[in-house]
Amino acid sequence: MKILVLNSGSSSLKFQLFDMSKQQMLTSGLLEQVTDHQQAIASMEEMLSNSGCLKSVSELDGIGHRVVHGGEDFHDPVLINDQVLDAIEKLIPLAPLHNPANLTGIKIARMRAPDVPQVAVFDTSFHQNIPEQAYIYALPYTLYEKYKVRRYGFHGTSHRYVAQQAADYMAKKWGKNPAELKLISLHLGNGTSAAAIENGQSIDTSMGMTPLEGLVMGTRCGDIDPAIPFYLARETGMSIQELDDLLNKQSGLKGICEENDMRTIVQLAEQGDYRSELAINIFCYRIKKYIGAYMAALNGIDAIIFTGGIGENSSLIRERACANLQYLGIEINTEKNRQHCRKIQEIQNDSSRIKILVIPTNEELEIAMQSAHIVTNMRGNI
Ligand code: AMP
Repeated sequence: MKILVLNSGSSSLKFQLFDMSKQQMLTSGLLEQVTDHQQAIASMEEMLSNSGCLKSVSELDGIGHRVVHGGEDFHDPVLINDQVLDAIEKLIPLAPLHNPANLTGIKIARMRAPDVPQVAVFDTSFHQNIPEQAYIYALPYTLYEKYKVRRYGFHGTSHRYVAQQAADYMAKKWGKNPAELKLISLHLGNGTSAAAIENGQSIDTSMGMTPLEGLVMGTRCGDIDPAIPFYLARETGMSIQELDDLLNKQSGLKGICEENDMRTIVQLAEQGDYRSELAINIFCYRIKKYIGAYMAALNGIDAIIFTGGIGENSSLIRERACANLQYLGIEINTEKNRQHCRKIQEIQNDSSRIKILVIPTNEELEIAMQSAHIVTNMRGNI
């Protein structure tokens, strides 16, 4: 079974082709500075055919599309039809930067491969079962009813994938029952988020109605006092658009130390740069606070998972985020933490009550698996 995974962004197109019988990636590509998605998809088809892995897109068993916002309509991945497209279109106000580009990719792919089943996999759907107490904001309730203002959460595909990997690993190694497993997943990349996971289900997550809330990110502020934008508007005359840009694009690590790439920040901190050191401390302190909060929400945990570009690669960030948490049963092992490998790695001390796992994420494979599942079910129903 061959599944193509498409991530159609506003200015880029990423694709990966999988052979699902071996869960193996056959080829992949990234097209950047995309202005014409039709052209980009034509280029992708040419790249696929040149790779020798696929003569034509009509040979595919399915196409899995990443869709950022599924709102309250989508708790699971779905087979795409006209109603699904309408529903994704109606969600554009909740994700004005992402959903339109995702939709464009879907529409062109449907035109190019009309007989190939296409599946939408949403970043939000993993978090759609979190309880009301975690998703309703303390705002007038009518705003939820009328405008769907609530926590949705993102990075769901990644959190789901690493949680499943952790469950398989812990069942095999310690005979841990996945149904009793409590995890905190920390996806630390350019965007960062934490999820509290029980029995394979998200019960809370740090991103909110939009991906701006929660942990400190590359350029996004995460949690701040919501009165700050009003104060700035009054004091500086900044417009809504300027404030949006400030909080989403000029804040986070970049706001604190003028750099948003964690590798550069770590290097600068090592050279004694004060603001880079401060940015790292703020980043890690925020993670620590979420670990504490989610341990309380879950009434204890079995493991913490680090994933994403920073989570998988930065021993310094993992060390600082887990430092001085012995009281909570979290003890990182400095040596194990510094060994780098590309598979699941345990980095806690033997005496640590809580396991600390580094798990490489693979959102594309997760989308391919979810899509293959839907295509197989669909065939079974014919
Ligand atoms: P992602 O969005 O998951 O691709 O992650 C991107 C982030 O991972 C960037 O901030 C990179 O600087 C960071 N990253 C990648 N490798 C390392 C590393 N070895 N040390 C620190 N940060 C890293």
